[in-house]
Amino acid sequence: MRGIRIIKAYRGEDAEARSALAKGRAYFDELIEMVRAQSLARVMLESIAGLGIVVVVVVGGLEVLRGTLEWPSLLAFLMCIRALHGPLNNLNTAYVEIQRRSASVSRIADLLATTTDVPDRPDAVPLPAAPQHIIFDRVSFAYAETEVLHGLSFEVHAGEQIGIAGPSGAGKSTLLNLVVRFHDPSAGMVRYDGRDVRDYRLADVYDKVAIVTQEPFLFTSSVRDNIRCGRPAATDEEVADAARAAGIHDEVAALPQGFDTVIGTGGHGLSLGQAQRINIARAILKNAPILLLDEATSSLDSIAEAKVQEAIDALMVGRTTFVVAHRLSTIRNSSRILVIERGECIAFDSHDQLLLDCPLYNRLWTQQVGDTTTATADNRERALP
Ligand code: ADP
Repeated sequence: MRGIRIIKAYRGEDAEARSALAKGRAYFDELIEMVRAQSLARVMLESIAGLGIVVVVVVGGLEVLRGTLEWPSLLAFLMCIRALHGPLNNLNTAYVEIQRRSASVSRIADLLATTTDVPDRPDAVPLPAAPQHIIFDRVSFAYAETEVLHGLSFEVHAGEQIGIAGPSGAGKSTLLNLVVRFHDPSAGMVRYDGRDVRDYRLADVYDKVAIVTQEPFLFTSSVRDNIRCGRPAATDEEVADAARAAGIHDEVAALPQGFDTVIGTGGHGLSLGQAQRINIARAILKNAPILLLDEATSSLDSIAEAKVQEAIDALMVGRTTFVVAHRLSTIRNSSRILVIERGECIAFDSHDQLLLDCPLYNRLWTQQVGDTTTATADNRERALP
């Protein structure tokens, strides 16, 4: 259902309908098989129980006739058998239920057994304060066998706003993931103040970072809880202040239940721009010293973008910020811009200097300035012959 517009636009209804029908039929067949097995077990159990009673009545009756058994004893025995019937039946039902659930249980067990690929070192040390320098020291990174970042080296100082530019697939998002150890490099090292980031406790590193991604992420919960998960101990007043700073307070207050309005997954009932500003309010509330923005405004129209950009500007103040931007205009005021091409850092300088020195940046910029409302580095790049 989520892909319905894409499916319609690409005329994929027939294929999708066939695939849904095949899946439905397979499920139906399995269901019938299960009901058949369940019914058979039940019939057999009932038959055996019934047969048992017949045998007891016949054999016991003969014994009573012969005078070797008192009829009250036979009656008591029959009542015992009847009393056992219920629990035995329950055992059977429980067995069938266990069989049915075991598939889900094994899936959950697999999930619980998953280990992180960025584990804490046994001797990991706390990271009490934000790093003053984040240093990439010949960092390479590979997804499985394919290396996508090749020996990146650069240094960022606390409070700097770093733009990351480059064609689609150059490795911008991957680089962002390495800054705060969502991944570990396959070679080289990311250092915080001279020390390998892998030496620090992961929880401490994650405490220092707030993220705003391209698709705003919201839980099915109240607006208040969605913002508060940035800092669970925050008071209602602090949540409201964060919303105010993100420029979303009045719009939330105008919702039917204000901050208690429950919003659906993906922000149902809100516009994309509003959902994004709630994400920004969450980041403001967290008040983390490192901020990662991964194309946070790229899916918005220009009016929503202006509001979200204003919120982002409020959020960036005083934080070490890494911004991957679709529209280069959003990072032109960054302290420095890192230009990546095919996994290599080809320039790292201010916007003005890059226009002079970096032909790739200059080309990306020139492509965009003609039509700043819709042009993006990535789709313009794809459109090149
Ligand atoms: P950008 O953000 O510049 O568009 P990415 O960092 O997303 O680039 O991707 C860099 C390269 O890594 C691309 O070639 C992409 O196909 C590949 N890549 C990204 N994510 C994964 C992944 N999870 N598994 C395998 N390859 C990936």
